[in-house]
Amino acid sequence: MAASISGLGVGLGLSCSTKLCKALPSSRSSGFRVKMTVSVEDKKKSYTLQKSEEAFNAAKVLAALAETMKKGTSFGAPCLLENVLAEMVISAVPSIEMVRFVNSGTEACMGVLRLARAFTGREKIIKFEGCYHGHADPFLVKAGSGVATLGLPDSPGVPRGATFETLTAPFNDISAVENLFNSNKGELAAIILEPVVGNSGFIPPKSDFLEAIRRVTKENGALLIFDEVMTGFRLSYGGAQEYFGITPDLTTLGKIIGGGLPVGAYGGRREIMEMVAPAGPMYQAGTLSGNPLAMTAGIQTLKRLKEPGTYEYLDKITGELVQGILDAGKKTGHAICGGYISGMFGFFFTEGPVNNFDEAKKSDTAKFARFYRGMLEEGVYFAPSQFEAGFTSLAHSSEDIQKTIAAAEKVLSKI
Ligand code: PLP
Repeated sequence: MAASISGLGVGLGLSCSTKLCKALPSSRSSGFRVKMTVSVEDKKKSYTLQKSEEAFNAAKVLAALAETMKKGTSFGAPCLLENVLAEMVISAVPSIEMVRFVNSGTEACMGVLRLARAFTGREKIIKFEGCYHGHADPFLVKAGSGVATLGLPDSPGVPRGATFETLTAPFNDISAVENLFNSNKGELAAIILEPVVGNSGFIPPKSDFLEAIRRVTKENGALLIFDEVMTGFRLSYGGAQEYFGITPDLTTLGKIIGGGLPVGAYGGRREIMEMVAPAGPMYQAGTLSGNPLAMTAGIQTLKRLKEPGTYEYLDKITGELVQGILDAGKKTGHAICGGYISGMFGFFFTEGPVNNFDEAKKSDTAKFARFYRGMLEEGVYFAPSQFEAGFTSLAHSSEDIQKTIAAAEKVLSKI
């Protein structure tokens, strides 16, 4: 089993793209891998983590997986477990009346985009600079995450035609969005956004931004899509839409709902979802979609997250962590701004505030790199990019948080 601490995936250690964890690096679901050697000391630490993971019921997920595996790993057809997870997702996420499982967040965003275009009969969409919606062609325009970290252009290999209908605006800028609607009257199918941006670092929406986006889309007959691949079941059990009380038309999910196995999902209002084949004419399918293993891990993970106190606990430890880092910055003379919601957090090396991707890029990324390496030497693994949010998980103890803060203070005093 991987030794890293997962995000909210109940300590299976595999489910989330950005982790605050001690010891081993893991693969990044944002599309690139980080290779590092692992010392004997790290292995010892990973053992400690595995014990704490067990304490948080990862064993239950593994046992359920073993049982499911005996009955078959893939049928290329719907299975009962898919219905069970679908029920759980539908009852949790306010906007979702019907849901379709796929195999990744990328696939979920591809599907939802086709659906929004099919439903509205329009082709243009708005995405925000620095948001990442997977690696499909139409979304690789001013994308965050690995694209931003590696300083890549909007990716060679993507034909101009594929992104021609993708318009962009700065996050938190409602006037820019209104201008796009004014200059593309009757042509915009949807706005897609990360309701809290995690792929340019942690950037929350300004107080009335999501409400304004909801209003503008309704007024213009366009759909609102929340990409909750990162925020779903993380900010609260019902995701960002429950947390902020804003209901989109469509939602994408991934990461947590697979409990560490490859998964994605899109869902929304029944009248829209009924366009998806076989109920309707919009084609989308996948051999491994809704496979019993991913469904099993997802079911067990959501059960664990639904237990009382989950999000209060995450909020508490994440608050301690962020406050500790901000205090350490003050003590050591570094300008740092940061924030958190439940188990999602981030900080930038700048006075801030950071409201969009351009402002995130102006932060001191070279200092972040020195901080990241220093923390690694202290045995603490943060996401290796300024343009990624961090996640805490149920496997993190208060002691882990205190050790992390102490390490941060030590590193900050040296860089
Ligand atoms: N959407 C968001 C908000 C994400 O953070 C990611 C991945 O990090 C994706 C979509 C793509 O998901 P996947 O990597 O599972 O394809």
